[in-house]
Order: sequence, then C-alpha cells, then structure tokens
Amino acid sequence: MIMVGLGPGVLPAGPGALPRSLAPKQPGRMKITKRGLPMTRVYNFSPGPAVLPEAVLQQAASAVLDYNGTGMSVLELSHRSKEFIQIIEQAEATLRRLMSIPDDYSVLFLQGGASTQFAMAPMNLRSATGSADYINTGQWSQRSIAEAQLLGNVQVIASSEDRNFTYVPRDYKISPDADYLHITSNNTLEGTRFADIPETGSTPLVADMSSEILSRVIDVTKFGLIYAGAQKNIGPAGLTLVIMRTDLISERSAAVPTMLRYDAHLAARSLYNTPPCYAIYVAGLVFEWLESAGGVATMEALNQAKASVLYDFLDTSQFFINSVAKADRSIMNVPFTAPSAELNEKFIAAAAAAGLMTLRGHRAVGGMRASIYNAMPAAGVQKLVDFMRQFERENTDI
Ligand code: PMP
Repeated sequence: MIMVGLGPGVLPAGPGALPRSLAPKQPGRMKITKRGLPMTRVYNFSPGPAVLPEAVLQQAASAVLDYNGTGMSVLELSHRSKEFIQIIEQAEATLRRLMSIPDDYSVLFLQGGASTQFAMAPMNLRSATGSADYINTGQWSQRSIAEAQLLGNVQVIASSEDRNFTYVPRDYKISPDADYLHITSNNTLEGTRFADIPETGSTPLVADMSSEILSRVIDVTKFGLIYAGAQKNIGPAGLTLVIMRTDLISERSAAVPTMLRYDAHLAARSLYNTPPCYAIYVAGLVFEWLESAGGVATMEALNQAKASVLYDFLDTSQFFINSVAKADRSIMNVPFTAPSAELNEKFIAAAAAAGLMTLRGHRAVGGMRASIYNAMPAAGVQKLVDFMRQFERENTDI
C-alpha cells in the first residue's frame, strides 16, 4: 500500500484514501515554523480548554507522527501495550512527586469530566441512608449539589449566594453525621478560592479542584478525594484526574454501575476500559514540564506574582472593577468589568485584535475574565495589564 505524508503506517493514499477535507495539508500551504508551532502564538486567556506550555505542544505534536521511534503514532498505541503502560505509570509517578501524594492515596485517570465526579463522589462515598455536606460557592458548586441531591441527602451548610458568590464562607459547622464535606476549591466563573483549606477532622473532605490543581501547594492528606477536569492545568479535555484516600472506597458502591465505581477503576489501574490515552500522554508531559520548571511551589510563586500584577492594576484602576473579597481572590481566574456593557464589548474586541484572546466572562457572570493558569507566561499577563491601562486612558471620557 502507498502511504502519504506523515511517515510509515499512517494514512493510505489512492482509492479509498482520506477525503480531501481530512487529508494532510500541503507543507507549502501550512503556516508553520521549523519548530512546528504557528508563527504567531497569541496569549490565550481561555478558562478551559486552556493554554498549554509550548514545549509540551511540540513534543505532543511530534509524538502524533512517531512515538519514540516505534514507527507508530502515540494515537495508535494499544492501551495494553508496554509503551502505553509506561506512559500512564510515568504520568502517575511524576504527579505523585509533584503533589507529594502519599502511598495510601490512589490516583485514577478517568473520563466524563468533573461533571461526572459530581455524581460519582456521592454514589461512592455516601452511605444509602447517609447525608453529605456541601458549601455553595458558585455555579459549579450548584451543579455538584444538584447531582448529589438527585441521589440522596444533602445539607448545604454554607453559601455565598447572598453576595453573588463574591466571597468564600468562613462560618459553617460540619454536620456530625455527614459522610463527607464537598467544596469547589477554586470557582472558575466567580474568581474566588478557598485560600485556607477547611479543617474537617474525621469527615472526609472532597474537593473539585478543576481550575486550580497544581497551581499551589496543597497538603493532600487533608483531603479524602480530589478531582479535576484536565483541560485547565493538566492537559487536553477528555481526562479527569481523581486522587483519593484508598480506604474510602467501600462496599457502598455495590449498587453503582461499573464505569462509575472508583473500586473498579482502581482494581484495573485506570484501564477498566480504553482510557483517554492521548490526553494521559499529554498530561504526563505537562507534569514533566512542571517538574522541570521547579515544581508546584515554584509555580505557585510565579502564579502569585502574575495574579498580583493584574490585581494591583485593578485596585488602582478608576475604570475596571473586580468585586471579589480580597482575601478570597483566585490566582487562576480573574473576573473584571469595564463601566458599561458597551465598553466590555469594545474591550473584548480590541483585546482580541491585539492578540489577547478569550477574555469574555462566562455568560452567567458577564464582563471579562482572564484565566491565568500555570502555562500562561508572565509576559502575557503584563501585556494584558499594559493593554488595560491604555484602554482605560483612551476610554475614560466616554
Ligand atoms: N468544576 C469546575 C470548577 C469547573 O471549572 C468546570 C469546568 N469549567 C467543571 C467543574 C466542569 O468540568 P467538565 O467540563 O470537565 O465536566
């Protein structure tokens, strides 16, 4: 068989070949540099899927064509192959080092997004007649509460809805009979975070860390279960990371469908069925990138510095406003508004024209939001602030 383009074993040519729309573009028509990235990479402030490190993108791109000299794309590796087993084991080992995950905790690479965890956590951790406590800090908390309510008893022990989710509640009492307490540790839409992780005593703490995992040092032993959709600080969408205290997986899950059982995924070491192989591969590269950049503590210091540049400007601006209580400000997602809806629109369009992309706030919140995850370079935040300062100057009389 004649093969075209991308190396051996990939794409058949001739009759039965790929339709034109799917065929690889002629090299002469592709706008790529020698290193394989587009010539002009913009600053992408997307809340997720989000910016990834360039070095990771390069390696991920090259592995699509040939994985480690195997003559196969990483996309073509069997999930039972020794190459893929090495990929998933290495990803887990690097993550364990990065987060100092103790041996009595399990790491699972799952699918279904954080949204599936909204159901999986109660299905597996709450007893049939039991109840779970939740703190409501925003739209994603509300989704997790709604899912848990579908399946059993929930107590919402605190909420910041009274002030439009602009703060994180500090006064609450964990119910003595709660099977766990659930928090959304960083609120992607509202731009708040739990600066201090709640002390829950013997009640397991379950945290949706989708939009802040690996951005700051956390003590894993304070948690019963941590989950995160990958598409912000970990890698491509399609992968969901779960870190859990292994002893919490009990017979309670007996009536739970297999794909929704932590014990089934643990017994099969995340290979109960075909996992999101490529997303796991790229996540492993991101973990290695993070480790070589100095690890989570170094990244936290960088993230803090990036966020300060933006918040310091917002605090002096007469034009842009961030309404989050200072002690509860997220260092990952920074919402802000201009004085009017028209100026918000004008800002978003002008910023995009200047290469500052995806700054529109969530439709439920409005205004703007800069998501400044680990892979957002400090230069991107500086460029945003310079642009905001200039925009303010040019638009203050309107
Ligand atoms: N929780 C949080 C905090 C999020 O930010 C998101 C996605 N933006 C979700 C849950 C939902 O994640 P997924 O799309 O992976 O289900």
